[in-house]
Amino acid sequence: MKISKGKIWTISFFRSFVWLALPICILGNIKSCSSYIEAGKYFTPYSVSVRGYYRRDGTYINPYNRRPPGGARHDVPYENTRTKMALLFFVCLIGDMISIAVFVNKSTSEIERLQKIEKDIEDKKRKEEKQLLTERILKKINFTFSAHLAIPQNLKKGILSKCKFCKKSISTDDFCISFFAVSNVHCVCMNCVLVQESLGRNQPRSKYIDEIKYFENYQKEFSEFKSKFHAESETDDFEFRDYEIKSIFDAILRSYEPPKIEEPQKSENTNFKSATTNETGRADIKRIRVKSSNVLAIGYDKNTKILQIEFKKGSVYEYYEVPENIYLAFMNADSKGRFMGNLYNYNYRQV
Ligand SMILES: [Zn+2]
Repeated sequence: MKISKGKIWTISFFRSFVWLALPICILGNIKSCSSYIEAGKYFTPYSVSVRGYYRRDGTYINPYNRRPPGGARHDVPYENTRTKMALLFFVCLIGDMISIAVFVNKSTSEIERLQKIEKDIEDKKRKEEKQLLTERILKKINFTFSAHLAIPQNLKKGILSKCKFCKKSISTDDFCISFFAVSNVHCVCMNCVLVQESLGRNQPRSKYIDEIKYFENYQKEFSEFKSKFHAESETDDFEFRDYEIKSIFDAILRSYEPPKIEEPQKSENTNFKSATTNETGRADIKRIRVKSSNVLAIGYDKNTKILQIEFKKGSVYEYYEVPENIYLAFMNADSKGRFMGNLYNYNYRQV
């Protein structure tokens, strides 16, 4: 799909109508020039010379040439023609410049467009090659995890927030601890959890011993994985960044995750459904209207820990195993939409 620049210039030449506008303008230039010169020929010559003299008030007038009497009147129509032709010349000159500018602009933007397409194709190809290489490397490494795969309950991922202590933003790829206290949801990054004795609001560090252990193991295994990955990929011309390796690692970890964690929750849901659901399979929960741009009403059932959200667009979502404090925080949250990020870790479905 290589198109030569010559071809692009030709195509742009016809598309920009420079072939139509430019000759007309150039013709206008030539015509106006020749008429201007022609009109100049008919001027009366400056044939009378006047010597310098002193005026009565004492100012000196330099010697000058003047036309013979009646000459100025004879010149008027030619002067008018000259003015008009000068005007025409400048109009045509502007026309020249505009048509050339349009032509150049069209050509360069076309070249840029094609270059972008070429680059996209190249990128896609590289991405695919990189994907293949990744698979090859993974096969070679044949990495296995030690048995600590079930993520502890309080270890959260996928919360886009700021750490309470270091104020660094916690990306959706980072682990953190999030807890609810005094109608606020607090997030603490794992690096801070490791060093803080107390996370504040009755959250001692010891409460998160499982989470810390999991995180430390995660880091250990990740660094091991990373060094192995780097060692394997060194010979290739692709460079893998740390964050890329991390996302590959996370992807494998996700696929390794035993399904055990989710199962009990699901069976509980089905048990629950048979007990108190209506025909649509939706739990019968009274929803309370809330003030929000997209959420219409929120309902919660203490016994089943089901949180229902009704959106203004009409859809209803159920979140399972949601602690009551999260529900209360949700109800108190200034922005319901933003708070939804905290529900990311719960199982949910549309009902
Ligand atoms: Zn922090």
